[in-house]
Amino acid sequence: MTDGFFSVRDVLAGRRGRTGVIRTPHGDIETPAFVAVGTKATVKAVLPETMKSLGAQAVLANAYHLYLQPGPAIVDEAGGLGAFMNWGGPTFTDSGGFQVLSLGSGFRKVLAMDTTRVQADDVIAAGKDRLARVDDDGVTFTSHLDGSTHRFTPEVSMQIQHQLGADIIFAFDELTTLVNTRAYQESSVQRTHEWAIRCLAEHRRLENERDDKPSQALFGVVQGAQYEDLRRQATRGLVGLRDAEGRGFDGYGIGGALEKQNLATIVGWVTDELPEDKPRHLLGISEPDDLFAAVEAGADTFDCVSPSRVARNAAIYSATGRYNITGARYKRDFTPLDPECDCYTCAHYTRAYVHHLFKAKEMLASMLSTIHNERFIIRLVDQIRAAITDGTFDELREHVLGRYYRS
Ligand SMILES: [Zn+2]
Repeated sequence: MTDGFFSVRDVLAGRRGRTGVIRTPHGDIETPAFVAVGTKATVKAVLPETMKSLGAQAVLANAYHLYLQPGPAIVDEAGGLGAFMNWGGPTFTDSGGFQVLSLGSGFRKVLAMDTTRVQADDVIAAGKDRLARVDDDGVTFTSHLDGSTHRFTPEVSMQIQHQLGADIIFAFDELTTLVNTRAYQESSVQRTHEWAIRCLAEHRRLENERDDKPSQALFGVVQGAQYEDLRRQATRGLVGLRDAEGRGFDGYGIGGALEKQNLATIVGWVTDELPEDKPRHLLGISEPDDLFAAVEAGADTFDCVSPSRVARNAAIYSATGRYNITGARYKRDFTPLDPECDCYTCAHYTRAYVHHLFKAKEMLASMLSTIHNERFIIRLVDQIRAAITDGTFDELREHVLGRYYRS
């Protein structure tokens, strides 16, 4: 990635939060920004054109899913992820590490994981078979689609992500869980560091080999779970890395096990160690309180599948909190999903209609609710960005969270 990839604009006085702009070959991203998740090169139930019209600046797809289906060579032949899915704007792919390891242990959500249990390294969700095995060279895993065996290494992840062709890609890291022991977290941070060195080298080799393609920015991923010394050590290690041409990471991802109540603290340890002039991506958050906390702690971009996933389960975000539209009270409610929302769904449809669509199991239910939820989160992050510039961040947080969590 060339110079000028990222620049900071306004800073949140006395804190680490800031606004800025990430410049990619497919357009700029004004930060802080919410990145919509299109797991399999589609934000489920919504047209890419609709995502653009509701203000999405970028889309993130999952390397693991696209590797298994349709395969990265096909996406490459199509001209890359954006061209394949008819999304003209900036794109991200994750490294596959999260899916390989979270599907491998049978856990889907690390953020909300119960940490009251005894620590153990061979944790696995009840009723699940272990689908992934980690060694120092990479991860061997079983496809959730057909049971076939596959192997990801740092080099393989880079090759897949170059073929997928997203503007921003991530180094292959080991995802641990909060129930892993401290000793395991230490060895895992070391392993992720060794893998980061290999990712940088392979990324540079592929860039030189595929020099007719748009340049891609590579983000290193900081792990270290809930331990301050490990998070700081992991961050300093990645920041200091250079490849044979003297180039380091273009940005940084903050990954892995985070407890909700420690989110701001952990992000703060990491951003404390990161250079100001590189963007920081926080993997996997979208609750309103988490967004404010992460921005204040210095995160620039976030992705999460939640707004669309919960929408398909009839959970609707609103200024006064999240509610389930299938509730009987909405049967004759002819107001919008959220009277304060400016989305297409709220402009044209009622709660009673969306309630009916869910009850009747109509596909349009998912479409209309996803449009609303994605717009709700994107608009919230747009408001947060404007509030940093205007110096009204604290007032906005108090106003938004006070209403959202009142009930
Ligand atoms: Zn709406």
